[in-house]
Amino acid sequence: MTGLFSTTGIRGIANRDFTPEFVLGLGKAFGTFLKGGKVLVARDTRSSSEALKNAFVSGLLSTGTDVEDAGVAPIPSVSFAVKQNYTAGAMITASHNPPEWNGLKFIMGSSLEIAEKEEVEFEKIFNSKKFLLAPNGSAGTSKNCNILEPYARALTNNINANAIRAKRFKVVVDTGNGAQSLFIPDFLESLGCEVIALHTSIGAFERPPEPTPETLTTFLDVVKQEKPDFGVAFDTDGDRAIFATGQGEFIMGDVTGTLLAHNFFINSKGCKVVTPIATSKAIDDVADELGGKVVKTKVGGKYIGESVMKSKAAYGFEENGGSIFPEISFMRDGSATVAKLLDLLASTGKFLEQLISEVPKYYQLKTKMNCSPETKGSVMANVLKKLEVSGAELITMDGIKAIYEDGSVMVRASGTEPVIRVFAEAKTKARAKELLDLGVSAASG
Ligand code: MG
Repeated sequence: MTGLFSTTGIRGIANRDFTPEFVLGLGKAFGTFLKGGKVLVARDTRSSSEALKNAFVSGLLSTGTDVEDAGVAPIPSVSFAVKQNYTAGAMITASHNPPEWNGLKFIMGSSLEIAEKEEVEFEKIFNSKKFLLAPNGSAGTSKNCNILEPYARALTNNINANAIRAKRFKVVVDTGNGAQSLFIPDFLESLGCEVIALHTSIGAFERPPEPTPETLTTFLDVVKQEKPDFGVAFDTDGDRAIFATGQGEFIMGDVTGTLLAHNFFINSKGCKVVTPIATSKAIDDVADELGGKVVKTKVGGKYIGESVMKSKAAYGFEENGGSIFPEISFMRDGSATVAKLLDLLASTGKFLEQLISEVPKYYQLKTKMNCSPETKGSVMANVLKKLEVSGAELITMDGIKAIYEDGSVMVRASGTEPVIRVFAEAKTKARAKELLDLGVSAASG
């Protein structure tokens, strides 16, 4: 990570620190870094995204780089298209951050997010201001493109679409006024689903961008009323899918991930699944039972993507509802997650709540605490000291995870926001609460 980049690209408050002038420079630097080629650009639905995208595209074009503009599109459709047809891609988005934020995510030709080594090189170019200039007053070419149709075809080819259509599933979808509003309702209808879609208008956020039990109250109420086969909600760029059972019970992302991993372990014996160190122990229990392998990484979609590629894993997932399917791309894909879940429901003939009940059960609690970037280091050092004396096995690959006989607590400074997150899990709710309190008190100084 460099000064410019966080774990999820470059982010800031639009028109304050993430200005069109700044983004113009990023466009020039990206074109210079790539030394030409053809770049796919897309954006999320934030009101600042169009202006920022235009500034970024201007910078790219000035270096002689050609640009294709997909307009508003879910980020997984961008990573899929880049893998097929482009030198690289860029998405104007701040994912689940509050509406006033915006950001940029760079996608390399392999469909992996820009690697840390490449970020260092990029930042050097950005700071030097020595940018390529298209010769003789020329510039790159720019045109609009539609990437959603080929993406939908690829997702459909990867599942048993006929079996899904035969089931006529009923699905409640909450796209949170984000980029999936333009894709997932139509995609589900193409699979014969009856779709009840919420928050699909574009222009203003009718709920906060991050899909959590607290922000999804309308969605959960509608699910309870409509009693669909399941409900699914997305963040603004559409790479995370969070599910609810037909009764409106919120499902944590690592439960969904473990359920899908379970299916990979059954269908391809001995395969590998990648997940961050923060994930519930349920995945280790399932892998042990079915002879699968679990590869652990630092927290962050890009580390999972890199590890899925390197270890030739079948699947990768994280607790926030992000899943990676390497046959589509090496980035998190909320639409492919829904497609795979439909496939699983159709092939097993079971209800989602039945499948969930078969995943080993851990009680999970999480909270976040405000913490300025300047004090994160000293707070985390203090957490390490306090947890060291608590008799736990400590893992410090990313943040601090303290593992006890009957549960664990993890304390980690966010890479993108001024907060410290605390996750606890245990076989009983009371013990999970105890461990959460332990984490919070260790981080409270
Ligand atoms: Mg996202």
